[in-house]
Amino acid sequence: MTKSVVVVGGGLVGLASALILSDRGAEVTIIDANELGSGAARGNAGFMCTTLLEPLAAPGAVKSALTSLNDPTRALRVHARALPGMIGWGMHFARSATQKRYVAGRVALAKLNLRHSEALDLLGSLGADITLGPELVVPFKDPAIAEHYLSTLAPMADYGVAIPTGLLDGDELRRMVPALSDEIRAGYVASGDHSIDPRVFVDSMIAALRERKVTIVEHAQVTSVGRSERRVNSITTTKGTFTFDEVVISAGAGSRPLGKLFDLRIAVVPGQGYNVGLPVSEGLTHPVIFEEAHAVATPFADRIRLGGTMEFDGLEPRFDPRRVEAILTSMRKFINLDFDAHFGTWSGSRPMSPDGLPLMGRPRQYDNLVIAAGHGMFGLSLTPTSALAIAELVLEGASSIDLTDFDPDRFRISKLVGAGR
Ligand SMILES: Cc1cc2nc3c(=O)[nH]c(=O)nc-3n(C[C@H](O)[C@H](O)[C@H](O)COP(=O)(O)OP(=O)(O)OC[C@H]3O[C@@H](n4cnc5c(N)ncnc54)[C@H](O)[C@@H]3O)c2cc1C
Repeated sequence: MTKSVVVVGGGLVGLASALILSDRGAEVTIIDANELGSGAARGNAGFMCTTLLEPLAAPGAVKSALTSLNDPTRALRVHARALPGMIGWGMHFARSATQKRYVAGRVALAKLNLRHSEALDLLGSLGADITLGPELVVPFKDPAIAEHYLSTLAPMADYGVAIPTGLLDGDELRRMVPALSDEIRAGYVASGDHSIDPRVFVDSMIAALRERKVTIVEHAQVTSVGRSERRVNSITTTKGTFTFDEVVISAGAGSRPLGKLFDLRIAVVPGQGYNVGLPVSEGLTHPVIFEEAHAVATPFADRIRLGGTMEFDGLEPRFDPRRVEAILTSMRKFINLDFDAHFGTWSGSRPMSPDGLPLMGRPRQYDNLVIAAGHGMFGLSLTPTSALAIAELVLEGASSIDLTDFDPDRFRISKLVGAGR
């Protein structure tokens, strides 16, 4: 029997899930509060990763976040006005930021992405443009820091992650990426990670969905939800009321306020990031991430996109042009590009969960609702496998990808008891 599915939120995860659902025979409607592909879907840095996946909640992250309250220049920045809305979230974050839990988070992300290329190819076969760019290069000024970062990757080989073959020196890196500055002295190639232009990826998924005659409802605000017992029966929006067999919540950084209408506590807060364009340069042959500056540069056909910063500023983060200046300034020592010709600043929010893992699955209140949120810093990279898992869960009742680590109910207050274990 054909299942009708409403997907609320047509960003990366919602679009890809809708595509697979539609291919597998579901009658799909996508509802978005804005245009499809809003949120962080198009403006991200375009790193399609299997190697560098990691949670934000790492040892030292809490101290770094607290220090930033008085230091607006830091790449990780928490605003005082955001704190009241982040108390429960922050407690779970602090609990996750131990070495043991950080490593466990890394392993969970690696396992989720084990079938990445299969799932990406599936999206490609359904009309998504999955053209990948060159491998990701990770250059450092300080060889000791490079060595440290590389050593943290090594254990991930046990989980099927492609590990860099070893450290390269500055000259070797500059032969690969001529734009790197003379201050770069060590680094490596993350061979499991490539760039993709997220604008092209998103637009191609939207075109494929339109071709399939999926119902698309844009600029529609959800105003109320009809429920009975363990089912959601209808969703009323500013563009009409919709009924369905199953509903998927994939509203990215907007998932928490949306969840409240369903009486759900979705533990996601916006983590704002920025990008800015530079003219293309022959010297930037690969996407690069500067871990020491917490900033990235990705070459696309029409521009280089510089990106970075993680800013917690409440549910509706303000755009702060000083953050863009900070990205430009921090990168000058690392790479020779035409910084003065920068253009097109953008900001958007990552849907941040406390432990850096997505929330995916059926919350215990409902039998016909699936949450697909909290994809954080790596939602582009996790989209193909997440979409496959979500489509299977909706249509078959279970996913062939183990979703135990992504239980959307894992952030109950009661779970804070026994913190540190
Ligand atoms: C600066 C920056 C750089 C990044 N770089 C990378 C990267 O290089 N690699 C990587 O893997 N990830 C990256 N990310 C993260 C990635 O972009 C996100 O994790 C991903 O976009 C999340 O996908 P999503 O579908 O959950 O949300 P989004 O893609 O943000 O889409 C959410 C959608 O839901 C809609 N919506 C919101 N609220 C509602 C509502 N109430 N009702 C209906 N619709 C709603 C929005 O309009 C939007 O269309 C980056 C993010 C940022 C901000």
